Amino acid sequence: LMDKILISGCLYGLPVRYDGKDNLLTDSLLQQWQQQDRLIVLCPEVSGGLPTPRPPAEIQTDGTIITKNNIDVTDAFLQGAHQAVMLCQQHNIKFAILKENSPSCGSHFIYDGQFNGTKVTGQGLTAAALTKMGIQVFSEHQLSILYAVLDS
Ligand code: SF4
Repeated sequence: LMDKILISGCLYGLPVRYDGKDNLLTDSLLQQWQQQDRLIVLCPEVSGGLPTPRPPAEIQTDGTIITKNNIDVTDAFLQGAHQAVMLCQQHNIKFAILKENSPSCGSHFIYDGQFNGTKVTGQGLTAAALTKMGIQVFSEHQLSILYAVLDS
């Protein structure tokens, strides 16, 4: 059985970003994995119960997640991460491609919590939860690295 790969809904082309747009990733490797029926699609924030569009949110230094208009959405983000964990368990997923810089999906960088576009080293809640359970998380810039470690 070929390895399944979790992918952020917005990278798959679903219009689930906070602003109602997508981050469609067009790449021949991704097309190949799609044809092989490996891709399992999830938007943690939508699965956590948040609407689209929604106000942008950033992780604060105390670990809570606050929208730009100062609403605490930590619970929804935690719920989304939990949904991702359960989906990966259900499909025995060991690999994920998650959108960089997102407070849910970012695997190397997130915004600093001040809503001024400054990025810092860190992980979103879902990326951190998946990493903790042993899943290898890659950003949309690392498809060739994932290709190298996947089974054929
Ligand atoms: Fe994309 Fe993840 Fe944000 Fe959903 S939570 S819009 S999948 S980056």
